[in-house]
Amino acid sequence: MDTAILSQFKSLFTGSKNLVIIGHKNPDGDAIGSALGLYWFLLELGHKPTVVMPNDFPEFLKWMPGCNEILNFEQQADQVAQVLEHSDLICTLDFNDLSRVGDLESLLRDSAKTFVMIDHHQQPSDYATLTWSDTSMSSTSEMVAHLIEAWTGWAGLSPAMATNLYTGIMTDTGSFKFPATTAKTHQVVAALIASGVEHSKIHQAVYDNQSPGRMKLLGRALNNMVIKQDWQTAYTMLSQSDLDQCDFKKGDTEGFVNYGLQLEGIKFALIFIENKSEQIIKISLRSTGDFSVNDFARNHFNGGGHINAAGGRFEGTMSEAIDHFLIHLIAYKNDLYETD
Ligand code: 5GP
Ligand code: MN
Repeated sequence: MDTAILSQFKSLFTGSKNLVIIGHKNPDGDAIGSALGLYWFLLELGHKPTVVMPNDFPEFLKWMPGCNEILNFEQQADQVAQVLEHSDLICTLDFNDLSRVGDLESLLRDSAKTFVMIDHHQQPSDYATLTWSDTSMSSTSEMVAHLIEAWTGWAGLSPAMATNLYTGIMTDTGSFKFPATTAKTHQVVAALIASGVEHSKIHQAVYDNQSPGRMKLLGRALNNMVIKQDWQTAYTMLSQSDLDQCDFKKGDTEGFVNYGLQLEGIKFALIFIENKSEQIIKISLRSTGDFSVNDFARNHFNGGGHINAAGGRFEGTMSEAIDHFLIHLIAYKNDLYETD
């Protein structure tokens, strides 16, 4: 990593005892992995870090070292407010806009504390004193690994740090297959494995531990898929009743959107998931090649992310969301439409 950024980290961290580390709403493997990786590193350096998440995280991540120490704002709002008030520095990881932390947003916006951002998404907002944003990185966990290497060398890596960072990199790269996976990513992963990470066990804990409900829900998502071959597009949807009937638990739909891209000739895939209690439709978008789902999500679904993986939301019913999507899709005829 850039030595100028490293010295900024050193000077900001050195003067701070109580640090808060925050990930995005609906935290995924990278949000949890990068936050806990940094947590163990800061503990080692003698700080007093606390990890806060806006809401709960999936069951299949509930073995990650240190995960029991995480404060959940949805359930521990008062405690989180206190921790923030007594903090010297707030590190936000794996997101780049304060709108990504749900109901925690106003507390952060009103806070006069110093912020640090570590993130790999596109178009970062300007809220941090130190913004370390690198869209070429596979994951925020990889960035934390680079920070540790630059600071202490790999000798400073503990098994707890390595296990968390490996999990974050593995989940954000689709097990090292997405285009953002680089030679550098593999060098980091090699160092993590060399430090004793039980990579095969991690893979099993995350992917081979599925409930029957999740498997049934996947069946519904595949069954509901609409394939617009001419438009190189496939989308699917899950209604609240699909979720209820399959005993939905947080994280169960993770990865479903990728199935559309497994179809021959499809380069744009989406999943629309109803959330009745929030009265929204949550949308995940994926692409291959240079079709930017970040732009699509930003322009039409109040979201964002990366070129090939993004998310967003729609306020309204499922059929309104689908209509909205189909109407706007037409404008991408030059990018997507193909006949032969
Ligand atoms: P997923 O579809 O797996 O929820 O998210 C894909 C990517 O898009 C992730 O990097 C995630 O952080 C980002 N993302 C998901 N939802 C949103 C959203 O509502 N707004 C923004 N800006 N990014 C999102
Ligand atoms: Mn990430």
